[in-house]
Amino acid sequence: MNKRIGTLLKQKETGIQVVIKGWVRTRRDTGSFSFLEINDGSCLANLQIIADKNLPNYKDEISKLSAGCSVIVKGCLQESPAKGQQLELQVDLLEVVGWADPETYPLQKKRHSLEFLRSISHLRPRTNALGAVTRVRSRLSYAVHSFFQERDFSQIHTPIITTSDCEGAGEMFQVRASGEKDDKPFFGLQAGLTVSGQLQAEVYAAALGRVYTFGPTFRAENSNTSRHLAEFWMVEPEMAFCDLSCNMAVAEELLKFVLRDILSNCAEDLALFDKFIEKDLLNKLQNVVENDFVHITYDQAVEQLSGLNERFDFPVEWGIDLQSEHERYLTEKLYQHPVIVTDYPAAIKPFYMRLSDDGKTVAAMDILVPGIGEIVGGSQREERLDKLVSRMEETGVDPHEYNWYLDLRRYGTMPHAGFGLGFERLVQFATGMKNIRDVIPFPRTPGLAPC
Ligand code: ATP
Ligand code: MN
Repeated sequence: MNKRIGTLLKQKETGIQVVIKGWVRTRRDTGSFSFLEINDGSCLANLQIIADKNLPNYKDEISKLSAGCSVIVKGCLQESPAKGQQLELQVDLLEVVGWADPETYPLQKKRHSLEFLRSISHLRPRTNALGAVTRVRSRLSYAVHSFFQERDFSQIHTPIITTSDCEGAGEMFQVRASGEKDDKPFFGLQAGLTVSGQLQAEVYAAALGRVYTFGPTFRAENSNTSRHLAEFWMVEPEMAFCDLSCNMAVAEELLKFVLRDILSNCAEDLALFDKFIEKDLLNKLQNVVENDFVHITYDQAVEQLSGLNERFDFPVEWGIDLQSEHERYLTEKLYQHPVIVTDYPAAIKPFYMRLSDDGKTVAAMDILVPGIGEIVGGSQREERLDKLVSRMEETGVDPHEYNWYLDLRRYGTMPHAGFGLGFERLVQFATGMKNIRDVIPFPRTPGLAPC
């Protein structure tokens, strides 16, 4: 039987013949045996295998195995007498598939810094920490899809190459065909990599009611922070007949749903993060899924922050965009819990957010979480044609370029809302990883795009 180690350890069945395929983590020799720790990536735990020195290839091969070698092992599973492990495998046959020279293999048995591991992004998934991040990331992705599919949302594959710039021209990567002439662009118009699938998602929300996108997003922002990538993944639901409070409820429910999912399905990996990456991570996550998020308005946030004796790099006054230091103060110091901030000044938000009756604020909401700051940004959209056009004009967006978008307000318009959840920031929050480069397989940041 050809089984993965994760399955075998869960089943705990002994006395059966199995075949496992994986990579050696360590070898230890005693009197008449060698103990090998094998990992096959299916789970954090290694399987201990015991190779008798009488095996025919013991001297030439088994005794020379080192970290990183790939092997196929056939043998019998038995209960382990050793402390801390339930099962071990008694080898009948061990085939070395690929050698790894111990002189040059970079992942010898010792703890490597995450910085060093970033310099070998092609080998780092073989470490405990990055393997665990990868499994948790995959499970979170699955949970995101389950959440929406179970609630009758349709997934929309929005374009990666786009000729509409959702927010700021400054942040867009340009796309050109090789040999393209300035006066004859490949797509007729200047094209770029998408910064958000929102506007296109709105098109489909106006037809299917509830939709979501989950895809790569690109921003050429030159910010070398621990929370920004030039290429990241975003989850963007868009819901017809939904207002700001419905929007907030869905976002909070989504976050709780996916975190609850990994708490029950990734317990072993989360325990590793709780031990080595963020102390008390499990308590933090449990607390988040069990308690209501805090709701405050932008007005209240400004009042609270400016009433403090705290010295911020950016002084707080009504009208400023909340900076990361402010967001983190709110969620980490004042509330120590996720905080939803609503009703931001119109002047600092994009044209598509719905203008409130006060004429000064828009129906926006950001969700802030400890350790990260903003994880979700969303709003109720402006569904009134005249208001939308004037907001475009005010913010320097040419309404003629967005005729298709305005048509959604001309024909059967309806209140609608949506948000963007930064998927890597979610993985950071779930794993406690401090740097966003450690939660995506191949990070792209200014000056850096390995593999
Ligand atoms: P920030 O102020 O942190 O740069 P933003 O206001 O530009 O974020 P939005 O445009 O609202 O963010 O995007 C929605 C979500 O996408 C954010 O809440 C965040 O989780 C995520 N996000 C935005 N920019 C990045 C980035 N460069 N790298 C990774 N995630 C990002
Ligand atoms: Mn940004």
